[in-house]
Amino acid sequence: MSEAPAFSTKRILIIITVLAVILSFAPSIVTAQFPMPLKSSQNESLLEAGIAKIDITPKKPVKMAGYGARTGLSKDIHDPLSARIIVFKNNGKRLILVSSDLIGFYSGTADYMRKAILNEFQLAPSELFLSSIHTHAGPALTIDKEKGHPNNLEYTKKLKGKLIKVIRQALENFQPVKIGAGVGYSPVGINRRQLVFDSSGNSSIRLGRNPYGPTDKEVLVAKITNPDGETVAALFDYATHGTSLGGKNYTISGDVLGLAEQFVEKILGEEVIAAAFAGASGNIDPWYRVLPEFNTEPGWIPEPVLLGTMLGEEAVHTFRDIEKVSGGGEIATAFVSLKLPGKGRNETEIKKNTPPAPFNVTAARVGDIAFVGLSGEVLTQIGMAIKAGSPYKHTFIITHCNGADGYLPPEHLYIEGGYEIRSSPFAPKAADIVVKQAVKMLHEL
Ligand SMILES: [Zn+2]
Repeated sequence: MSEAPAFSTKRILIIITVLAVILSFAPSIVTAQFPMPLKSSQNESLLEAGIAKIDITPKKPVKMAGYGARTGLSKDIHDPLSARIIVFKNNGKRLILVSSDLIGFYSGTADYMRKAILNEFQLAPSELFLSSIHTHAGPALTIDKEKGHPNNLEYTKKLKGKLIKVIRQALENFQPVKIGAGVGYSPVGINRRQLVFDSSGNSSIRLGRNPYGPTDKEVLVAKITNPDGETVAALFDYATHGTSLGGKNYTISGDVLGLAEQFVEKILGEEVIAAAFAGASGNIDPWYRVLPEFNTEPGWIPEPVLLGTMLGEEAVHTFRDIEKVSGGGEIATAFVSLKLPGKGRNETEIKKNTPPAPFNVTAARVGDIAFVGLSGEVLTQIGMAIKAGSPYKHTFIITHCNGADGYLPPEHLYIEGGYEIRSSPFAPKAADIVVKQAVKMLHEL
């Protein structure tokens, strides 16, 4: 009995201590019990985005990229080329997605542009996805004063200034946003590894059309709105080369993905940006491929326009079907520069002592939407494998991103050979390393 009061005091002390511990781990409870003005930490948990777009159509005739045999200068412009930027910000973290209507940042221009952008905005390498839609009807980039055409040198230098300008614009225009994603499907891209036989019955793989080969038909779309539900931007990811026009074409165009972007913007509103990303499409061409030019026969819809419109309509259907958008998504980013087992380009034999070949993997997430940037022409099976291994429901595979390191084919295709295998700088084991690395990074975000 005599110990009762002492016991009570002890008990009260324990209760106070436990409460203090709970409250120290749960600042939100404290906030809930003692309402205070909004703290800056609460403001920072809002997802914000800035968008901007800039015209990058060449003003002078330029050498065009994508076909070695095409040596003349561009003669005409069918549709404008643009760079589209979306920047996400949350809790002091940033992610900058750049989609450009170009073939890719080849000939050392990826490092040149990236360095300039990273320095200018004090970014970590993981915060920038500098990507291209791989149109083969656009200018070649060059910083090679000896071999580069003066018009291309001038174009590339101006492009650097334009990219910095347009990224700054996006960074100065942040607004609170909500984001959601959805998936559509399109048959516009087709596996191009066609099996042919010569007169002696020997088989080989050539660039053509293989309707039975694998393709990733997903049209992955992200919808970005303001808090009132008004559209700010559409992002879409689809696996196809920009090669409906071939090496005889001298007219500038964004090809299928570029024309799809322009279509989506026309429908959703000119103030909206619709940025496309080329999915894993190393072995995927548009259904109509390598045409000599835009067919202008009366009544004929030129194939790049037909295919771009078809893809664009699916992107809009998918966009409009996305009902759930949410704000406050966390941002996380990661970047790894790999040294992959290499082989000589244009060699089929895997020699010992071939130096390793570089390859960059960038991974990011905005809320529950993931982005994987791959610095080369990744064959479609690899993108599908990364999506399958991703812990996220929606994973954008963005190729021609943060580098231009060449074709990356899956191991099982090396025995068949063909163009992508021959010209790849990577040995057969390289693809597995990239898939595992990308999936690991996604899990760790
Ligand atoms: Zn290509």
